[in-house]
Parts: sequence; structure tokens; C-alpha cells
Amino acid sequence: MASISSSSVHGNAYIVWDDSSGPVLFDCGTPLTKLLRGLEALGFSPGDIRAVFISHEHTDHIQALCLKRPFPERFSIPVYASPLFWRWYFGCGYSLDRDLVRTIQDGERVKAGGFVIGAFWKPHDSVDPLSFLVEGKDGRAALLTDLGHVPTRIISLLRGVEYLVLESNHDVEMERSSGRPYALVARVLGDYGHLSNVQAGAALSRIATKNTRKVILAHLSVDCNTPEMAIRSCSDALDGCGFAGELRVAPAREPAIYC
Ligand SMILES: [Zn+2]
Ligand SMILES: [Zn+2]
Repeated sequence: MASISSSSVHGNAYIVWDDSSGPVLFDCGTPLTKLLRGLEALGFSPGDIRAVFISHEHTDHIQALCLKRPFPERFSIPVYASPLFWRWYFGCGYSLDRDLVRTIQDGERVKAGGFVIGAFWKPHDSVDPLSFLVEGKDGRAALLTDLGHVPTRIISLLRGVEYLVLESNHDVEMERSSGRPYALVARVLGDYGHLSNVQAGAALSRIATKNTRKVILAHLSVDCNTPEMAIRSCSDALDGCGFAGELRVAPAREPAIYC
């Protein structure tokens, strides 16, 4: 598992692979050059990517899909997203070779790149926001960013997952005193915005078990959070749930490999 970058400002792109499956790319929200350089730094060439899964239409998740010649089209990579996402995408005038368009929706599981990948809905202020659960021979990996709260349904689905990328977006006090426009602060803090460090910790304490090997805190705000604050909040919350794995932060702008 790896990320190319992880933040609203620098974009989001995550990669999952194992010895026999993948690599599969989750979101491609960076400029093309950054995506290509990031893949190279991680030891992949773009043609290796077996599929792209798109979580939602915010720019920090789809930038490389919104080019005149989208990244996946250059390398003939199929792209999975919800039917409502595709309606939005083509409705905006973007174009992708229709042969590469695949659909996935809440509750559906598909085979891609040797994995079984399931989609589940999450509360976020976008058209039809999805997150993904990847099942491979080394266990399950979940990618969960961009949500305002964590419903019990998601906790139940992910409980005991082996690998987890989880949003820990902001410190609430830093967000409130950031000087950002009121509407933006209200959006981030709202039920359909982003998870705070405290919310991420609370979710972790219910999702992580002794089975959980790795937790990657992701999509940290570069202005209203610090890696140290996110780690402290989440490691405190993890006390007592049996978690004995590794807790890390995904760098906002550089590529990183986690396992
Ligand atoms: Zn985002
Ligand atoms: Zn978003």
C-alpha cells in the first residue's frame, strides 16, 4: 500500500497491491506530471496500473481524470466510479474513452486487478461519495477519507480490517480559529465534511482490533492540523482496543510506501 500525495491542497492518490494482485489506483487527484513522477518513485510504471477507482468528484481526487486526454486513457486503464459520478463527469463536458468506463455502487463488489473490491457510501458533500474495501490474499485494506462522520454501518463493515487508510483531517480548534470563510469552516466541521482528529480516533477505537496491522492517517489539513496532533489523538484513542500494529501519517505532498 502506498500514497502519492494525501491532502486537499496537493491531491489524493493511493495504490494497493500485493504479490499477486494489482497495483490498483484509488483516486487520481494530482496533476499528471506529479502522478507519473510519484508512480516512478514508487517503482511502478503507469502501464502497470490495473484499474482506477474514483471516490467522488472533488478536484483533489480526480484532477488527472479531467484532462483533455485523461491519465487512464493514455494508458488504457479501466476506471470504476458510481453511475451518478459518470453522469456528473460527462455532464460537465469531460471525456473518457467509453470502453474504459466501469460502474460500481454502494454495496457492490467487483473483481479488478486480482482483488475483490467493494464500494460503500459515505457521508460527504458530493454527488455519490464512495469508499472502497479491497480484499486480497494478505487481508483486507480499506480507504476511508472525505466524510463528515462515521456511521455505524461503516464501523461494522470495517471492524478488524488489516490495513486502513483513514482521514484525520483537522484539529477542531485550529479549524475554528483559522480565519477561513465561515461557510468553509462550517462545511469542513459539518456532518458531510471531513473527520477531525477526535472523530478519527473515536472511529479507530471501534474499527481497529488486534487483527489490524497498519493504520495510515490521511488527508490531513496542511493549515489546520499537524502530523503530531493527529498521531497523538489517534494513538490515545487506540489504547485498550488491542491494536498492536503501526500507526503512521500519509505525507501531504510526497509519495510514501506503507507495506
Ligand atoms: Zn478530498
Ligand atoms: Zn471531498
